[in-house]
This record gives sequence, C-alpha cells and structure tokens, in this order.
Amino acid sequence: MKKHILFVIIILTVIIFIYFSSFKNNTEVENLSEGKEVTKEDYIYKDQLLDLGYNINEIKVIQKKVNNITAKKYLLSKKYANVTKFLYSPYFNINNIERYENYYKNNPNYSIDDIVMYVEIGLDNEFYTNVNEIDNYLDVTALVNKYNKLPDNVTYDDLVTLDTNYSNDGKKQLRSEAYDATIDMIEAAKRENIKLTVISAYRTSEYQNTLFNNSVNKNGLDHALMYSAKSNYSEHQLGLAVDFNSVDVNFDQTEEFKWLKNNAYKYGFILRYPKDKEFITGYSYEPWHYRYLGIDIATKIYKENITYEEYIVKFSKKTYQ
Ligand SMILES: [Zn+2]
Repeated sequence: MKKHILFVIIILTVIIFIYFSSFKNNTEVENLSEGKEVTKEDYIYKDQLLDLGYNINEIKVIQKKVNNITAKKYLLSKKYANVTKFLYSPYFNINNIERYENYYKNNPNYSIDDIVMYVEIGLDNEFYTNVNEIDNYLDVTALVNKYNKLPDNVTYDDLVTLDTNYSNDGKKQLRSEAYDATIDMIEAAKRENIKLTVISAYRTSEYQNTLFNNSVNKNGLDHALMYSAKSNYSEHQLGLAVDFNSVDVNFDQTEEFKWLKNNAYKYGFILRYPKDKEFITGYSYEPWHYRYLGIDIATKIYKENITYEEYIVKFSKKTYQ
C-alpha cells in the first residue's frame, strides 16, 4: 500500500514538474516573439539559433524580424556576426546577408545602412562583373550602368531628330518622350538667356563601341573606363541621355551649368554622374551629361541629392524577408 502511495506521489511530482517547466518555456518563447503568435517552430528555431551561438537578445531580434521559413532557408547554416544590425536597415534583403557580412569585413568604417545600400547597388562586385542583362529597355526608368547592360540589337521606333535649333549638327536623336522634354527645357532656358545645345544623344551600340575604343587609344584603358562606357553599357543607347554644350569638366563653371543644375529636374532630367559619387556611378563627374527619367523621379532624386542607383534601392527595389 505504502509503495503505491509513494509511486503516485512520484508520478504526480513528475507531472507537475513537466507542467510547470513547459509553462516556463512557453513564456520564454512568447517573450521571444514579442506579441506574435507562438508556434512550435519558433521554439525549434530558437534552439537551433542558440546552438549556432546567437544569444537570447539576438534571437529575439531575428524572431521578431524574420519568419521561420526565411530563418530556416537563410540563417541556420552558420552564424552571421552582424545579422541583427543589418535586420534594422530599411533596405535589408536577406538574400544578400552573406554579401553584407563580407563587404562589412572589408569596409568596417561604413555604417550599417551604407553597407546594405552599397551591396544592394552591387558595389561589392567589381565594375563589369556579375552583370545583369536588362529586359526593360523600353521603359523610361531602365537602369544601365556597369552592372546592368542592354541586350544586343536593341532598336527603338520612336526616335526623333533634333534640328539645328537644338543640336550642333541637326542629326542628334532622342526617344520621343525625352525629345519633348529636351525641347521644353531648351526653350525654357532660352527665355532666361541660357543657350543649351545638344552635342550627343542617342547612340547605336556600334557607335558606342567606336567611341570607347577611340577613348582607349587616346587616353588609355583606365581613363576610358572612367569617362566612356563599353558598348551596351551606355545610357546614350537608351535614347534618354543628353550631353549639353561641352564635354569639359569646366562646363560646371558656366551659367548654363548653373541653370541645368537648378532646373533640369523640372523637365525630368537628372545630372547622372555627379561629383563625389564616382564610386557609386562608376564614372567621373560629367557636368554635361543628363538623363531623362520623368519629372517625378527626377524631382525626388534632385531633392534627396542622390544618384539613380541609390534612388532604386531606396524607392523602387522590393525587399524580401
Ligand atoms: Zn553623355
């Protein structure tokens, strides 16, 4: 009889112990997920993250910011030293976590947001590597730079020729939307006694190839790479880029440049290769080169004082979590 009572007491003790310890674990998981519904998976991933070496505060951040499917896919193969910092960046894309960590290792002085921004632009890769061939070359917003190239044999059926009132030789062409904006802008400038002349606009890939090769022969490859684009990597091939007046860095000392700097956005153009942004755009400062993007985007870029590359990461890229 005594034996039986003792046995029941032991069983009850074990049951009570299990009940309270599971209650304690649930509470802990609930704290981890900060208000989200707790699932069994939260508990499993918490243990796996602990095994990887994350502390409880890091796990709280991960479980708050990343769902379990994503955590399983991206975060359980190794410990990422700075993932909990990157997770707070507004441009964070978990697909690139490994690249953020590597870029941060090589650039420890950059801020976390800069690391994420620059990796999203692609700057952790050398220019002309990991290149994407764009398929939206008909869009006014198409991005062409040293990571995004045009396919071969692109043609446009809406090119319009600028006559000698607007261009140096009466032969320069632009796509119709950019043409209209260019005429409006040149006429507006004229009313303020500013004379703008288009000296380069649409280029074929063959012509771009000739220009690049000429630049290499004249100034050497390094110089050519900073000032000229390889064939299929030039915005001029989009029919949306315009060079005004003079391909000379001292153009920025002129009244014409000052007018463009303050007014181009009102007509949908941006100064595409600004000073001090060479490391982002891949090109030296080009005060003469303007890119048509439409008034809304151009205005945003002007007001934020950013490059088109930064604009895309900030305002038009989708992030995945
Ligand atoms: Zn240009």
